[in-house]
Amino acid sequence: MPRVSVRIPTPLRGMVDGRSEVAVEGATVGAVVAEVAATYPALKKHLFSADGTLRNFVTVYLNDEDVRSLARDATPVRDDDVVSIVPAIAGGAPAEGAGRPSPLTALPMVAEPPADRLDREELRRYSRHLLLPEVGVEGQKRLRRSKVLLVGAGGLGSPTALYLAAAGVGEIGLVDFDEVDLSNLQRQVLYSTADLGRPKLEAARDRLTGLNPGVKVVPISGHLSSENAMDVLRPYDVVVDGTDNFPTRYLVNDACVLLGKPNVYGSIYRFEGQASVFDARHGPCYRCLYPEPPPPGLVPSCAEGGVLGVLPGLIGLVQATETVKLLLGRGEPLIGRLLLYDAMAMRFRELRVRKDPDCVLCSSHPTQTGLIDYPAFCGVAASASAGAGGAIPEITPEELRDELAGAEPPLLVDVREPNEWAIVHLDGAKLIPRAELPDRLQELTSARELVLYCRSGGRSAQATRLLLDLGFTHVRSLAGGITAWAQRIDPSLPTY
Ligand SMILES: [Zn+2]
Repeated sequence: MPRVSVRIPTPLRGMVDGRSEVAVEGATVGAVVAEVAATYPALKKHLFSADGTLRNFVTVYLNDEDVRSLARDATPVRDDDVVSIVPAIAGGAPAEGAGRPSPLTALPMVAEPPADRLDREELRRYSRHLLLPEVGVEGQKRLRRSKVLLVGAGGLGSPTALYLAAAGVGEIGLVDFDEVDLSNLQRQVLYSTADLGRPKLEAARDRLTGLNPGVKVVPISGHLSSENAMDVLRPYDVVVDGTDNFPTRYLVNDACVLLGKPNVYGSIYRFEGQASVFDARHGPCYRCLYPEPPPPGLVPSCAEGGVLGVLPGLIGLVQATETVKLLLGRGEPLIGRLLLYDAMAMRFRELRVRKDPDCVLCSSHPTQTGLIDYPAFCGVAASASAGAGGAIPEITPEELRDELAGAEPPLLVDVREPNEWAIVHLDGAKLIPRAELPDRLQELTSARELVLYCRSGGRSAQATRLLLDLGFTHVRSLAGGITAWAQRIDPSLPTY
């Protein structure tokens, strides 16, 4: 029986005792993955639907090929093959077949450069570009004429925006709704301590025009939705996806496909990142890779998982580099290739992504012709969609305070991770991370009132649903999590 290694990405390592690789024996890809899933039941739940088929937000690669383009589950494996599980992460093949992606120079993305010249200051500012034959005066004028939209001005958007402004991209649109928070500064290098509390768009505009007054910065405040996405994206040549959530990621992809624009994709989680360029005119779209978003709760959010501060810097610069290449019409774009980066191993890998001939969106017979609003399922909004079994019983911070002071206080269960517990937790609480809950039910006496909490209410809602489904009756979720408790009951507690 061939012996192969199965690579486990960071988001799933918690389900396989923290391993990055598992060696197993099996004759086919399906047998190998099933073998791993049988050993690790938590992983099985994540990878397979109830009917035993692989979920479609998980893709499996044999070496650098997507098994969907081989013989799927039945694809035979050989000794020393590498099987990779590549799940969709929130926090991002050419139609002609096995050939290389079509050359970028053929892409009519940006209108021809205008006749007007670069002035003396521009000649000086961009001199290191002008010395490159691949850029030169014509290329620099092309950049000046270009419009790039950055969706998200956070960890990925920060380095991208800075370098695109420095490079002389004429217009940079920024979509964001947030204010600068202290917890952003570990990675969002667009902002400084003096910007705390300011709207990100305002701080970003100041910083970018300070870096390069020749760049027009267009702040677009608010959330992208199915109603506004087409209008917001339409004026731009290239769209850079720097979002941290699936609903926006699918909106960006879908609008780009419908408008015929390149979507420069990046996503990050803990120590691992992905990047690609999706351009349905010349290769696959994001839905070819992941046809639909994972259901709420199965994929941890960034806030839940954390991220190494330098990681978005690297992935954001891959996005900036691809953007500049697209605008210049130079080089070989990351179309049809998914770049995987593991910061801990300092390893880059590249997987081939093929255009799905049956893609619901970008194939010749699409079934989806408009935009879809998926429910937001990071943080608080997750509680509303945590399960099909009706509303999740909740308790407000004020009610909990009163009950804790009463004669029969409820048992507090903290369903976050130990490192989050170390930052802050409620007195008297018991730590049982959500993933361990099914194995530690005996620690929860069902006779007593239980109150579950997490950071902002999403995970505890899911855990509450789980306990209700298992027959617990007196269980509630703390609305807004420990964050709401800190804001409304005990301001001495830190938030994160
Ligand atoms: Zn597609």
